[in-house]
Amino acid sequence: MNNITILTMKKSRISSVNMWSFVIMILLFMTQCSINESSIYRKIRDHADHVKVINAHEHQHWPEEYGDYKFRFYHLIAASYLAADISSAGANGYDWKLMDSLSLDELWDRYGKALDYTRSTSYYSQFVKGFQKLYGFSDLYFTKDNIAKLSTSIEKNYKNYKQWFNEAFHRAGYELMFLDQYWKPFNTGLDSKYFALVFNINPLISGSSRKPWKGTEPGSIYEEADNEGYRINSLDDYLKFCDHLFKKNIENKAVCLKNSQAYSRTLFYEDVPYAEARALYDKPSSRLTPAEAKKIEDFMFHWIIRKAIKYDLPIQIHTGYLAGNGNVLDNGQPIKLNNLFLKYPEAKFDLFHGGFPWTDESAALGKMFRNVYLDIVWLPQISREKAVNALEEMFDCVPYNKFFWGGDCGLIEESTGSLEYGKDVVSEVLANRVERGLLTEEVALDIVDRIFRENVIEVFKLEERLGREF
Ligand SMILES: [Zn+2]
Repeated sequence: MNNITILTMKKSRISSVNMWSFVIMILLFMTQCSINESSIYRKIRDHADHVKVINAHEHQHWPEEYGDYKFRFYHLIAASYLAADISSAGANGYDWKLMDSLSLDELWDRYGKALDYTRSTSYYSQFVKGFQKLYGFSDLYFTKDNIAKLSTSIEKNYKNYKQWFNEAFHRAGYELMFLDQYWKPFNTGLDSKYFALVFNINPLISGSSRKPWKGTEPGSIYEEADNEGYRINSLDDYLKFCDHLFKKNIENKAVCLKNSQAYSRTLFYEDVPYAEARALYDKPSSRLTPAEAKKIEDFMFHWIIRKAIKYDLPIQIHTGYLAGNGNVLDNGQPIKLNNLFLKYPEAKFDLFHGGFPWTDESAALGKMFRNVYLDIVWLPQISREKAVNALEEMFDCVPYNKFFWGGDCGLIEESTGSLEYGKDVVSEVLANRVERGLLTEEVALDIVDRIFRENVIEVFKLEERLGREF
């Protein structure tokens, strides 16, 4: 070996030692980063578990409101968002009667394959989370075998649902839920131990273009008016009864209004003059063209917003994606509401669901208008990944006193899963921002308190209610 060869070997040994030290240092640094990241995430996530959550949107049913069924695992799926993914995967629609008449094995044969195809969706994983929190379910997926045990526990709990609801409600971490009873919108009685009343104003809008020719449709606003002794022969009569409904809801401590009309029409509400609406209302509804029917409805929503300002009630509005299978997606595009935000600066508009898939429009509207708030309700369930990205964008754009969270579910198990999912998503985004030096831990924890509790109390004026009743 000559000197040059020895020198080269030494050099290469030195450089290989240096290279290994460098690799080890990088690995140590990466491990350190991930420990820090996970510990920050854990701290934020644990903090979220100690918040007494005010859930700004729910559709909680008592089981008997679905019908006289013996509730088991598949009934809970049928009442959940996941049913739509199972149908989307190709399974035949859920028939509630079959849930009672078929065995669990027969139901697995019928739905198991499609259920398995949904294992990647957010509807699926948020649904699993509810059982992990409330039933000690530890698997990642449902299987033919593990469903049997779960179903037995569900059946036992649903024999005394009110007791089970009370236990699960507190175990999930709730203090209060806003209840939108779209399936019985004139009901103002509810259990104030758990729920605050939401005044669903859909029937006031849709009823204005569906005046009965004779008789009244069961469940319609006209039947309700009949029951309460109101005669409706003109738009003025109709508005008088609508004002009565406002007062009745306020007497029952309604916290806000809710518009979910995107399920049946566009969210673009033109400003129609009273005289024009009155003349159209006088026409038989069956003779109204679709454009005329829309005009009366548009007038009604403007009228409702003015009442909401007068009675100081925020207005929750469904925007974006529509639950179920098959509808007109662009009905709910958030930007269609822009004219209302400009015209009514004193009203408080609360846009739901991040307007998915138009989350950027929601962020822009929440940023541009003082009177526009953002409720991330249901967004994590539709797409966890989109919720993470959208929240990053929204935190960039919108001050954090303008965010709320809601569950949006029919039964307590799914609502619990929804809350777990919501906390996971918010904590992940905040931990990420702390990691990147964009937020301090202290502010991140404050944002958690604000989204899951404090903002709702402030904007919906719940201080007195919480002080008095809890
Ligand atoms: Zn809803």
